[in-house]
Amino acid sequence: MASTPIFAYYSPMGGERAATTRMRESGRICCSCKVPLYSPPASSRERYCERCEPRRRVYMQFRGMPEGWHVSFLEPDLKTSLPRKFIFQDSAKVVEMAMRGGADRTSADKQAIEYAITNGRGSVWLNLTAAQYAKHRQSGLRQG
Ligand SMILES: [Zn+2]
Repeated sequence: MASTPIFAYYSPMGGERAATTRMRESGRICCSCKVPLYSPPASSRERYCERCEPRRRVYMQFRGMPEGWHVSFLEPDLKTSLPRKFIFQDSAKVVEMAMRGGADRTSADKQAIEYAITNGRGSVWLNLTAAQYAKHRQSGLRQG
């Protein structure tokens, strides 16, 4: 008995219909889980949905200073600083940045950040998208 047809049946590329391939290659569906992506593609490239997008772990530190809340970031080795820094007047922006940066969204973690703010300093692990990480690699102080 020939094994070739069975092999072809199980081939992952052979299992994807041509229409699906076109949708994936034009960025209209997630290239991993195939959910539709509704925002218009910036370019005709493969894209991930928010859940499948690979994330970079970054350690965010914040500290209340007389001129505002200083926010800085470290690579996972906890030694290498990322160039971008922030000074926020409002501690709510520190919480917002942590949430937008993919800090775990359990209420305990949000409470932990708010508790750290009442203590004047703290840190949280973020899970940044590739685009967010690229911005943090640009140097500069942002104030807000
Ligand atoms: Zn996906």
